[in-house]
Amino acid sequence: MLIEHLNRRLLELDAAALRRRLRVAESPCEPLQAFEGEHGGEPLLAFCSNDYLGLAHHPGLATVLAEGARLWGTGSGASHLVSGHLRPHAQVEELLARWFEPHIPHARALLMCSGYMANLALMTALGDGSATLFCDKLNHASLIDGARLAEGEVKRYAHGRLDVLESQLAACTTPIKLIVTDAVFSMDGDIADLPALLKLAEKFDAWIVLDDAHGLGVLGLHGHGALEHFELRSERFICMGTLGKAAGVSGAFVAAHPAVIEWLVQKARSYIYTTAMPPALAHVLVASLKLIGGNEGRVRRARLLGLIEQLRTGLRTLVSVQPGWKLGESATAIQPLIVGDNETALNLSAALRRQGLYVPAMRPPTVPPGTARLRITLSAAHTPAQVQRLLQALAQAMGETP
Ligand SMILES: *Cc1c(COP(=O)(O)O)cnc(C)c1O
Repeated sequence: MLIEHLNRRLLELDAAALRRRLRVAESPCEPLQAFEGEHGGEPLLAFCSNDYLGLAHHPGLATVLAEGARLWGTGSGASHLVSGHLRPHAQVEELLARWFEPHIPHARALLMCSGYMANLALMTALGDGSATLFCDKLNHASLIDGARLAEGEVKRYAHGRLDVLESQLAACTTPIKLIVTDAVFSMDGDIADLPALLKLAEKFDAWIVLDDAHGLGVLGLHGHGALEHFELRSERFICMGTLGKAAGVSGAFVAAHPAVIEWLVQKARSYIYTTAMPPALAHVLVASLKLIGGNEGRVRRARLLGLIEQLRTGLRTLVSVQPGWKLGESATAIQPLIVGDNETALNLSAALRRQGLYVPAMRPPTVPPGTARLRITLSAAHTPAQVQRLLQALAQAMGETP
């Protein structure tokens, strides 16, 4: 019964061109990556990872990870509150607290196993019955799921519509108000207007839960993310960042006022009831974060910016001759090419695949209906010649796609 039910539902997904497929990568995360059963085993030129600085397969970091495993073993053995909170975890937290001190007075940081779990932690521990959560409609799925689990009331505002948010805040009577937003939106690459959000937060005594998964490492002179980019400072910011994207490892953190962090330690179930990340990962995270904040990080960010400019210039020319297609308003490593319907997005992605390029098509429910797209992501590990190859392949694929 269950199996028949599921098979029927799966066929519905096929019919709507919404079936997703797992593919096994046969080589590490790099611009040239081989996948099982694809392109005759030859590597594809991939524009799909969130490894924005090209650190996921950095030889120096791999050495530090091995050293971490020698020093600290492979497992933490327990949750943080029992005995799994080891020195390397504390070192990551101390380093991140220093990063965020200029932006969040007295900042403390808390290391978590993943961004998904960090967002569940924030939404459930802070969004209790005395709180209202105000969520941008394009927030990441983990924030949406967290809001579903939260006891507090949830209000959603259309993407970036701070006028709507303002009237919702004005009408709100709960003592705690939490504005919840991605800093860089994951399917569009646009950056939230944080200065305007902070003004609203101050006006209505609200707090801002900021998901900087795609800004950390990429934005700001030292790669400290969206708050550094805008040079903002307020205790009202509760910042979540992920460590599996630009940082090239795994995990996530929350940086916030010490009282917020202490409350998470006491109450956040997705923090308390899970095994702490392997200490070797924390050990290499210290090195990765230092690299991001230092000269090598600066060089990689500059290279990434150059590639973003090159790609956007080329894409602008392409969309100008293809009515109905749109380039997103993005200054970040996420560059959407919005084509509209699911079929077109899939065909375009398949046409690129035939040319040896991997650019994933994003369809509903990941993006709103009617805005299916190619989600092109760039990495500092790409070369200008590879970006050029993408632009040429797109031009050819456009000719083949109605
Ligand atoms: C990737 C992502 C997350 C989840 O982070 P993980 O560490 O991969 O679980 C949360 N928010 C946003 C905006 C993301 O892009």
